Amino acid sequence: MKKKHICLLHTGGTVGMVRSERGYVPKKGHLKEMLDSISDLKDENMPLFTFVEMDPLLDSSDMAVDDWNRIGEEIASLYDDYDGFVVLHGTDTMAYTASALSFMLENLNKPVILTGSQIPLCEIRSDGVDNIVTSLLIAASGNVSEVCLYFGGRLLRGNRSTKMSSDGLLAFASPNFVHLAEAGISIRYFQAPPAPKSSLDAKLKLCRLENIPIGVLKVFPGISFPIFDKLMTEKLKGIVLETFGAGNIPGNGNALLPIIKKAFKAGSVITVCSQCPQGTVSLGAYMSSSPLKEAGAVSGYDMTTESAVAKLYYLFSKGYSTEEIKVLMEENLRGELTTD
Ligand code: ASP
Repeated sequence: MKKKHICLLHTGGTVGMVRSERGYVPKKGHLKEMLDSISDLKDENMPLFTFVEMDPLLDSSDMAVDDWNRIGEEIASLYDDYDGFVVLHGTDTMAYTASALSFMLENLNKPVILTGSQIPLCEIRSDGVDNIVTSLLIAASGNVSEVCLYFGGRLLRGNRSTKMSSDGLLAFASPNFVHLAEAGISIRYFQAPPAPKSSLDAKLKLCRLENIPIGVLKVFPGISFPIFDKLMTEKLKGIVLETFGAGNIPGNGNALLPIIKKAFKAGSVITVCSQCPQGTVSLGAYMSSSPLKEAGAVSGYDMTTESAVAKLYYLFSKGYSTEEIKVLMEENLRGELTTD
């Protein structure tokens, strides 16, 4: 049987970093040298892969919308040449990039697997070797055709993933969605509800994102909403409100209600997510969330904040009206949320 051919796209991150006087930094050409010394990658059971290094390589904490566009453009331009993609990426914002790519790569029909490591390949005990080797095997398996994140033995739906640990090797979780696969002695794939595709069109289409002003506001006991009035009504277009529990806010919304109404009039969309990593938002379940619904905020259900942010960028970039965005934020576009 013909071997699958995977593109290994290096964007930066710890996996390919080297020590410097001011901490770890990405270094051009370094990862390629490290990969050449990994014997597993030369094993006959491995798929073919071609290494592509992006320029500049970034610490993922420096990544923004333009970098998501660069990664998306690279994948789109090489799409027909490969059976799948493994994207090496820093862990800090990997869940944001995975979420963004899941929306941007419309009609995706091949695996795009983001991975990286907590310990650089140049150090002993690096988790990068397994993360790269197993991601390549999964990308060549023919079992997935969506944007995923592989880390520490787990394959997660990209837009359901979140970074849970700053120093553990099981750094990512998918608290509201089943794992797509687990890699132990063998790699076991699980049946998960498939991520809806944007259309049945077979051709990949890239939606580039625009730099829309998006904000995330985390409520806390004692928050003074009027302080955020101008920000929410004049500056931001998409707002993710990270609320308590199932969507609750302090003060029965008295202070927030007029601001939300004003924000909607000004063309902003406020999406309610939860500070709890696990569970869903249920607007109206408590009196402390009813006002949000009445004022016109939309429910993010069980979406991660990463996914809600990426989805707002995507929907505003598509040019939808505020009313359309309100409807689409509550719809399952790429498997990012569950409404029932
Ligand atoms: N700061 C690094 C990055 O996100 C952390 C990592 O890769 O683990 O690029």
